[in-house]
Amino acid sequence: MDSPAPAIQPLALPALHASHGGCWIDDARSGSAREIGKGAAIVAAADTPLIVLNAPLVASRLGYPDLSGLDLLELFAFVFPARFVVPTPRGLAHALDLPGPELQGDAGVPAFLRLAAAALLAETARPEWQEREGAWTVLQTLARLHWPWAPLLAQTVRRPERAERWLFARLPEWEEAAPRAQPAQIVLDPTAIAARLAAIAGSDAEDRPAQRAFAQEAGHAFAPRGRSREPHVVLAQAGTGTGKTLGYLAPGSLWSAASGGTVWVSTYTKALQRQLRRESRRAFADRPKDQRPAVVVRKGRENYLCLLNLEDALQGGFQGRPAILAQLVARWAAYSQDGDMIGGDLPGWLGTLFRRRGIAALTDQRGECIYAACPHYRKCFIERAARASAEADLVIANHALVMINAARGRETGSQPTRIVFDEGHHVFDAADSTFAAALTGAETIELRRWVIGPEGKSRGRRRGLAARLADVASYDEDGARAITRAREAAEALPGEGWLARIGEGTPSGPIETLLAATRGVVHARDESGGQEAGYGLETEAAGLDGAYIAVAGAAQDALEALRQPLARIGTRLDAILADPPDWLDGAARARIEGARGSIQWRCDLLSGWIALLARLGGPADPDFVDWLAVDRSEGREWDVGLHRRYLDPMKPFAATVLAPAHGVLMTSATLCDRNLGEHDWESAIVRSGVRHLSIEPRRFAVDSPFDYASQAEVLIVTDVPRGDIAALAGAYARLIEASGGGALGLFTAIRRLRAVHGRIVDRLARAGLPLYAQHVDPIDTGTLVDIFRDEPRASLLGTDALRDGVDVPGESLRLVVMEQVPWPKPSILHRARRLAGGGQTHDDAIIRARLAQAFGRLIRSDRDRGAFVVLSAAFPSRLIGAFPAGTPVRRVTLDVALQSIAGSVSGQNATNPVIPPDPANGVAAPTTSGNPA
Ligand code: SF4
Repeated sequence: MDSPAPAIQPLALPALHASHGGCWIDDARSGSAREIGKGAAIVAAADTPLIVLNAPLVASRLGYPDLSGLDLLELFAFVFPARFVVPTPRGLAHALDLPGPELQGDAGVPAFLRLAAAALLAETARPEWQEREGAWTVLQTLARLHWPWAPLLAQTVRRPERAERWLFARLPEWEEAAPRAQPAQIVLDPTAIAARLAAIAGSDAEDRPAQRAFAQEAGHAFAPRGRSREPHVVLAQAGTGTGKTLGYLAPGSLWSAASGGTVWVSTYTKALQRQLRRESRRAFADRPKDQRPAVVVRKGRENYLCLLNLEDALQGGFQGRPAILAQLVARWAAYSQDGDMIGGDLPGWLGTLFRRRGIAALTDQRGECIYAACPHYRKCFIERAARASAEADLVIANHALVMINAARGRETGSQPTRIVFDEGHHVFDAADSTFAAALTGAETIELRRWVIGPEGKSRGRRRGLAARLADVASYDEDGARAITRAREAAEALPGEGWLARIGEGTPSGPIETLLAATRGVVHARDESGGQEAGYGLETEAAGLDGAYIAVAGAAQDALEALRQPLARIGTRLDAILADPPDWLDGAARARIEGARGSIQWRCDLLSGWIALLARLGGPADPDFVDWLAVDRSEGREWDVGLHRRYLDPMKPFAATVLAPAHGVLMTSATLCDRNLGEHDWESAIVRSGVRHLSIEPRRFAVDSPFDYASQAEVLIVTDVPRGDIAALAGAYARLIEASGGGALGLFTAIRRLRAVHGRIVDRLARAGLPLYAQHVDPIDTGTLVDIFRDEPRASLLGTDALRDGVDVPGESLRLVVMEQVPWPKPSILHRARRLAGGGQTHDDAIIRARLAQAFGRLIRSDRDRGAFVVLSAAFPSRLIGAFPAGTPVRRVTLDVALQSIAGSVSGQNATNPVIPPDPANGVAAPTTSGNPA
């Protein structure tokens, strides 16, 4: 971004900044900011529009939810759509190339906000403003919507001389391409793999023998397959820092160039997707501009903007503040790289500024796409992404999408056959969710809406099945009858207000009656005595009485009455596609193929539900775990239903993903359980699904090149009493103070996270140590991690998602604190798997994996240093194997831990030399009073 003109003066409007350390206002008259109380800040904000940064965050700091004002983030989204910014004063300063406010601390922020506002407005007056096109048109609508920035922008955004191309005219159309030939069968030459790796690593790369060995091993996954349904499978455990990304991209890019095929790389986290997008540029030479890209990031369709939904929102579907959001999204869509709204180039913070589920309503969440009947079909981001991935050399996707594509087969245009599962330790959990069945109120009402369409006062473009298939109905009598029958049968599904009705005991229809009975059983069997009020309740789907079984039977009949006509419609559509009538041009065919895919998906869903109900009252199926549940959050029930999971979800994974593939590489730093320092390959094989095929996987392991003995330390703190929130909070505060921030705090319960945050956040803020928290701050998780990465003195508290989703090399992360041993949640599903998996052995493997993943956040490069603290005296020694070989592990008091951390931060690092391990268990004894397990 070019530097703004140096003569920029702060905007002559007041600005407010609120942190946990206090509130500061710059009234644009006195020339400096003054500290004010929260009450005075609220009065000031109610009197006059103030410039703020992130209004929901300021509102939560003030305890004043109605706060509105001139939010700089909204202005940024208008001026620079699709550009990245960390939504903090420091991040904004960096994005705008302005001097940051750090030197003056919080008191300097209001003046900086006024300067940043002026810089953004000035940008729109510059002839070089790159995002000018469309701005004037959108601004006219925003002015009518009384967007507070509109009058100021009206002074700087010039009316264009010619009418601007509006979004839907501006977006390019995608082209159909001829189907791709099947890939040639290639045997990769080891010398060529080594040369490729050297070329993409670059001449200045350090020599990494482990990476070279990894690349050779990965090459085996691309060999021609010898027998049908017997893919080459390579399991590769590679410690952090091996360089495995380039290690598999080297043979992968060689294979795709020589064979003409597509390699799929599947990840779990968005952080790795971003890294892959960067690193793959070196491995896959890009194609000429007029061709489709060689590397494509592919997501589930619910991630992308649906242009038809956006058009509806712009034309009155959204009112008030959401209507402003729709205009800002339209600005973004015109400049977006790929229309990805979740983790793509739409700022993650944009949706939370509007405090509504507006973003989700702009995607195609419910599979209601009308394909070629849509006026934007030829410009649709989702269709473009599907075509691009069919022709790409490398597709970067996530585990769930790869599994869904393999299971449903449509969407991609081609089945993934050469797959690299990076972050392979998450494949089990992804398969568990993908192959699950949930017959719940939330799921069934979605199906009703999909079949029937809008009811009552609903508005928008959504249409029912009958409207979507009107041309089929007029052409095919049998199909028309099936559509009518499906429409009637869907009336049996829960409708609006179902949750209130079953709560009041007045369910309507057989499925609501089943849900009401389910709720009754779950509550009747609950033995928590209300202690766990606010959390979900569940009970086994066993020992159910005759009345419940009868209700379930009636529900099963109702679902079957819907499944049959849907299956019939599917058959009729197949017949039309096989023997096409005159009117079936390319566009109509695409729409019918789309409808066929989504009908098959619903038939499979219904079959799963019917099978679940059919088992009730009979002998349990050993392949499945079934239970009834009431989902609650913060004391409020939000869903009720029956659930089914595979006891081993790798069984369907092996059948639908592994068996049809030709080659699969599964890799991770924590693929194998590490007990007593040994690689447990049996656990890796079980969790890869390979044992369900008659093949032997190749195994490969390489340790991390990092020197954990000098770079890291594990401190097990023995004197923070379990269950004492005040002591826990005090420990967190002192640890964060000792490290000067840069701490990632991991919790196993949201309740404890909030309690700790509430007790320490003000104290830390006053010491200049900002503390952010998932489930507390109104900021999405991805943005929280961006903020944490950008502010070396910031700390972040969170739960499971942060255990894997944080990739922060360098200074910003130097301390990881776990509040306790991450025991598995004692659910019905866990109990069944524990029983099948060897009891304690099963649990220990889960905990070691979690500890290893959490520890893995700490050391991301050979320059990183840091401490890993577990605040639990009851830390069993058998879990120590979770940490990489050579990592010093000590049991210490909190005081000793604090000295050690402060010492290493200040560079002294010798206040507490590592005590030699106790030969009995490999763990050093506490240095002062402690309580070793
Ligand atoms: S083709 Fe489907 S997903 Fe794409 S814009 Fe149209 S309705 Fe939305």
